[in-house]
Amino acid sequence: MEDRHGHRISYLRISVTDRCNERCRYCMPVELQEWLPREGVLSYEEILRVAEIGAGLGVRKIRVTGGEPLTRRDVVGFFARLCAIDGIEDVGISTNGTLLANRLPDGRNISEALVDAGVRSANISLDTLDREAYRAATGRDFLDRALAGIDAARGAGFEKVKLNTVLMRGGSEAQLVDLVEFAHRRGLLLRFIELMPVSSGDVLTEANFLSAGAARGLLEEAFGKLEPRPDFRTNGPASYYAVGGRDQLVGFIGAMTNLHFCDSCNKLRLTCDGKLRPCLGSHLEFDLMSEIRRGADDEEIASFIRGVVERKPREHEFRDNYIPGRRMVAIGG
Ligand code: SAM
Ligand code: SF4
Repeated sequence: MEDRHGHRISYLRISVTDRCNERCRYCMPVELQEWLPREGVLSYEEILRVAEIGAGLGVRKIRVTGGEPLTRRDVVGFFARLCAIDGIEDVGISTNGTLLANRLPDGRNISEALVDAGVRSANISLDTLDREAYRAATGRDFLDRALAGIDAARGAGFEKVKLNTVLMRGGSEAQLVDLVEFAHRRGLLLRFIELMPVSSGDVLTEANFLSAGAARGLLEEAFGKLEPRPDFRTNGPASYYAVGGRDQLVGFIGAMTNLHFCDSCNKLRLTCDGKLRPCLGSHLEFDLMSEIRRGADDEEIASFIRGVVERKPREHEFRDNYIPGRRMVAIGG
């Protein structure tokens, strides 16, 4: 599928839940969270049907996210069915990592079970290595669980394990070097993500924003010049740099400051309440759940998906006074 601006769509990001066991300030800052009722969330059957129809339209990669996807019941079984869909070549998970080391009744930990199900990559969020800062950022004292989860993921045999850190001024600066060292010691690819306006306004102030460029500058004070590596790309919008004198790359996802951020966008998003979104940073969303539940056949669903791709904007609207309408946790980052 190709949109009007030449974006070729091959990547579907699916949120399976709006629930989470953490409360990151930039994602869902309030403690009083109202969850969607169960019937307001797509069933696994419904999601798998969309994924199958998507595969027929050229979707090759799927990343499952949330909320925290590992909080949804029987999610490992869902992954196994997703990975088995014809045409889907690569399935990954985005997770806060806190449940990855948990044991299942059969003795495997969740990471191992995900790998056995066919999941190839795990992107794990980690904003800090400082216990108190972690608690302040996520609302939970779960740093140890997240670190255990990262180690479980490393031991489980994923093809790729990446770490994602959201940059926040006043929070991140002191952590950047430690996080780079941590990723280096564990042989993990670390990416820094600029804060995006997908949460409540109080978090998204200029004062809280730390640009990718500023973060690079801070890292260069510690490591010397970071060398751009435009030849290195993953299936996303990160720009990678080599840390001098060592075999380590660090990525920067400059959603706000990189003016070419959207050029190579290949994504569609399916929210857990069944909305198809052509762009994270646009209010456009289309109610696929209603189509499914009114009994649309596969061809009708396929043409609905094609219609959403046709409406994909050239670029996101984050720089144009975008007013957050939905929190990240409801969209699926
Ligand atoms: N719970 C999982 C996790 O934390 O990785 C998956 C869902 S989370 C919404 C996906 C990613 O979005 C995480 O890396 C998170 O840090 C990022 N994220 C959440 N809110 C954000 C914001 N306002 N700006 C930039 N990234 C954000
Ligand atoms: Fe939960 Fe992930 Fe959002 Fe944090 S970023 S509140 S872990 S969904």
